[in-house]
Amino acid sequence: MNNDTSLGLRIDVDTLRGTRHGVPALLDLLSRYGIRASFFFSVGPDNMGRNLWRLLRPSFLKKMIRSSAASLYGWDILFMGTFFPGPLIGKRCPDIIHRASGLGHDIGLHAWDHYTWQNHILGMPEADVALAIQRGFDELTRITGRTPSCSAAPGWIADGTVLRMKDRFPFTYNSDCRGTRVFMPEVSGKQLRTPQVPVTLPTYDEIIGRDGVTRQSYNARVLALVKPGALNVLTIHAEVEGIVCLDLFEDFIQQALGQGIRFIPLSECVSMDSPPRPARIALDTLPGRSGKLAVQVPDAEGVS
Ligand SMILES: [Zn+2]
Repeated sequence: MNNDTSLGLRIDVDTLRGTRHGVPALLDLLSRYGIRASFFFSVGPDNMGRNLWRLLRPSFLKKMIRSSAASLYGWDILFMGTFFPGPLIGKRCPDIIHRASGLGHDIGLHAWDHYTWQNHILGMPEADVALAIQRGFDELTRITGRTPSCSAAPGWIADGTVLRMKDRFPFTYNSDCRGTRVFMPEVSGKQLRTPQVPVTLPTYDEIIGRDGVTRQSYNARVLALVKPGALNVLTIHAEVEGIVCLDLFEDFIQQALGQGIRFIPLSECVSMDSPPRPARIALDTLPGRSGKLAVQVPDAEGVS
């Protein structure tokens, strides 16, 4: 490891609106600064409006108010798929996804159906998990003309079954959990072959409005968490940093570059710690996020 400070940039695309409006804006922005990143696309039905039903849960309602979800995502996203079947994102926006692929970014699978993955993937039979991945994999392959090189679980919702089913696909890396270093996942004592690139930094909606973090102080707060010489991975959302927070994100890029931070796609993070040591994942809670998500389990000596 050296003192080079690099920041892996993971861009999650959850919805039709994010694909249609957020992705082109981000592609233009990244091109202006000569930055390559990892894009993870959702290509099946946009049913994200069904998340409205989660409003019934008080903790989710509190989070929606804190992060002004309606202004972040737009009312059309919040209602999408609630009163009518969700539109197929890959069928509506193939050109945009294809364009991202042609610009040299890592192109990965986020989900076939983001809503269903986030809410129902845990506990699904193996065959259904494999089918959910296969449908997205096939659609993304059809759109870009090449197999996706990586994948990233929506909402970091993943367990041993998810990791084992993903290992059957020709992904060169996956990003399914939060953690601190690149590792080879171990499931039921067996080491898988696809390295994990965990996300190390919090997302916008996790820290905005908490502990006094405002739009004005947000960028400095995140940059203070970037560690020289270590794995740094940030997730942004096409729906947030690509639309309502686009100016804020451009300011983030400028500040980061000014501090000598180099943006890289997650494929370049894999070689930083080679060969990656094994580690396990577990489901746990995280500040600012409702429900459990996959986290990297620290080694026996506490080093993660
Ligand atoms: Zn997502």
